[in-house]
Amino acid sequence: MTKNEILSQARKEKRTQLTEIESKELLKEAGIPVVEAKLARTKKEAVALSKGLGFPVVLKVVSPDVIHKSDSGGVKLGLNNMAQVGKAYREIRLAVKQHYPKAKIKGISVQEMARPGVEVIIGMTKDAQFGPVLMFGLGGILVEVLKDISFRIVPLTKRDAREMIKEIKGYPLLEGYRGQEPADIPLLEDLMVKVSDFVDKNPEIKELDLNPLFAYKDGAVAVDARVILEDSS
Ligand code: ADP
Ligand code: MG
Repeated sequence: MTKNEILSQARKEKRTQLTEIESKELLKEAGIPVVEAKLARTKKEAVALSKGLGFPVVLKVVSPDVIHKSDSGGVKLGLNNMAQVGKAYREIRLAVKQHYPKAKIKGISVQEMARPGVEVIIGMTKDAQFGPVLMFGLGGILVEVLKDISFRIVPLTKRDAREMIKEIKGYPLLEGYRGQEPADIPLLEDLMVKVSDFVDKNPEIKELDLNPLFAYKDGAVAVDARVILEDSS
């Protein structure tokens, strides 16, 4: 689906929250590398998609009503064969129904399991005074607990992006701390500017998160993405 098709579908269904599949499609169109997710509506479809991708794969719930998928048992990583995919499919449906009895489950997404990298977050929120603001931080507890994040007003220059990356306390982790793989920092700068340009050109986007993006020494890929649209009514 193209950007316009995705946006008009969401409007038709009167929802402002795009699914991970839709969010990733928009980002891909904007030149951001993503782990593409495909929708399975049955267990059989999930197994067939997994075989097509090659193991290991990841299964996740697809529902506009579920914001934090793993909190509700909606994410299963590292599935290595058809039996594991079938079991994960059933378990995700059950767990999400228990957590959110009213959630509309569109299906289960199937995607490649990305190799581990440094987990970073690129986000955008709208500030009442400054408008769109871009956020950068390291993934996981560093953002949630330590709030080790930096901000700049959109549109971002390459130089803004470089400063944002260097400003966070966790910066040494990106340079390759104690033998850990370093991140391709010029690429991260480039992606941050791309996200900034994308939200700048699309004012109907209210919030956006790549959470996380896996950064490698020679590349990067978003394994999760979330886009929230402005209320158009
Ligand atoms: P949530 O809605 O809970 O944020 P995510 O899609 O971010 O769900 O998945 C939770 C975690 O699982 C991620 O932070 C990441 O560490 C891991 N993960 C998700 N998708 C993939 C993938 N395709 N490959 C490897 N790891 C993944
Ligand atoms: Mg996530």
